[in-house]
Amino acid sequence: MPSVQTSFAYKMKHPLTADRNIDVLLTADRTLMSNYHGNEFLGFGTCAPPNFIPNILYSYLFFPPLKTKNGVPVAAPYGLRKIEAQLLKGGFNVLTVSPQHLRKHIKNAKVVGIHTMDPFGFGPASTTLASAFKKEPFLAKYFHALVNSPVMREAKKRGLKVIVGGPGAWQFRYRPQLLKEGVIDCVVEGEAENVIGKIVKAAINGEMLPTFYEVAAKDAPCSEDIPDIVQPSINGLIEIGRGCCRGCEFCNVTLRPLRWYPLDKIMRELLVNVELGKNRVICLHAEDVMLYGSHTTVPDDEKLLRLHKSVKSKVPAVSWSHCSLAAAASKPKLFSELSEIILQNQSWWGAEVGIETGSAELAKRIMPAKAHPFKAEDWPEVVRDGMGLMHDNMMVPACTLIVGLPEEKEEDILRTMELMDDLEGFRSLIVPLFFVPLGRLKNEDWFKDAAMTELHKQLLFQCAEHSLRWTDNLIDLSFVDEGYKRILKEFYKAFAGIAKRQIRQAEITMLQ
Ligand code: SF4
Repeated sequence: MPSVQTSFAYKMKHPLTADRNIDVLLTADRTLMSNYHGNEFLGFGTCAPPNFIPNILYSYLFFPPLKTKNGVPVAAPYGLRKIEAQLLKGGFNVLTVSPQHLRKHIKNAKVVGIHTMDPFGFGPASTTLASAFKKEPFLAKYFHALVNSPVMREAKKRGLKVIVGGPGAWQFRYRPQLLKEGVIDCVVEGEAENVIGKIVKAAINGEMLPTFYEVAAKDAPCSEDIPDIVQPSINGLIEIGRGCCRGCEFCNVTLRPLRWYPLDKIMRELLVNVELGKNRVICLHAEDVMLYGSHTTVPDDEKLLRLHKSVKSKVPAVSWSHCSLAAAASKPKLFSELSEIILQNQSWWGAEVGIETGSAELAKRIMPAKAHPFKAEDWPEVVRDGMGLMHDNMMVPACTLIVGLPEEKEEDILRTMELMDDLEGFRSLIVPLFFVPLGRLKNEDWFKDAAMTELHKQLLFQCAEHSLRWTDNLIDLSFVDEGYKRILKEFYKAFAGIAKRQIRQAEITMLQ
């Protein structure tokens, strides 16, 4: 397995600026090849469709392109870095390039691998925003611009194979057109480490590829088989584990096994980001960072404290990808201790947090273990306690609520609206997502805007008002008054001001 030392060896062996014969190019569309000005929350902006801000300004504000050297980006999405590491380990000649510089490197490539999050805008945040604006979101627009670009079309004519993977791969089940037309040769869904080598080898040898390859849960790699990344990831994101033990019905993640990485593996990837990427911030990624090292729903104090002390000894700032309210609420003292470690030289940190519903009845049916170690019927109380704890400790959650869950009744929506009232004073973003059939609910119907009731609309406005109420505070926290960030800050505030006025106007129109 490559260590930090071997990552330097890779770099020496494969200097990024040299012209070498590349078999496999890896890339992603420009909404994914961005550091979002160092603030992952801004990445939500890629789910919106073109709007009242000119596209060129909007893309700079929400997903500016990464710096490149000879077409090679200084960082790349973490999932793409994993595939890059796996292919290097398998002996392939591979290079990750920026989508704007494909032409420079594609001449001799036999395969292009594309990482995607939401290729058709079917992700929950995109469908919600698309229903409001009635247009295709940026992330879908840029994905299609990439796969249909003249440079890709020309390369396809001479036999290039295109393989797509990433968290958005499932969407090709519903939109197989690009596969039928031969624009894309193969889509890989699931954790690809154990299969990507044989698929790429077949592509290089000109063999037939499966159009859709679903990696079975039994083929998911164990922790020891997952290679370390060898080049920096965007915003210093590093995985600390995979999988989740809570088993929510609507979630894909829960179908895969739970694995936590040992601390030395995490620190090796941290050093890749610090030494090669000069990152001063690390984002710890897991479905629930609070459960690091635990195989129950109770946090492990010792492992969590050790992890955070180790990380903070190497970088000044840290953030989390996801955190559960139940795990935080179950150990308030531990949560405060972690916040003390994290806040030594930063003023806040963020994470995505799932609220999903304020209805205890619906929670019991659809996510019975989400409240563990508390009872499912206590879910609204767990949310209030967890959110209060996060507010007091300067953790800013970007929360999700699911609208239109199967079997959702009017009373469930009313309970969620009551919960929203109680959360008013807690610093957070709350984003409503339309139900998308995934996980064990993959055969259910999608929730469409045509099915929206007046109560749904009121809930959506309540979420928008809550988030916009906290936006100025979050902008002040996120953007210090220095350099170009001072100007950016004013743009975001102006954008938020316009959005607030438009939402109020839409609300008044709805109530008339
Ligand atoms: S807690 Fe989150 S990651 Fe885990 S199963 Fe539920 S929705 Fe999925």
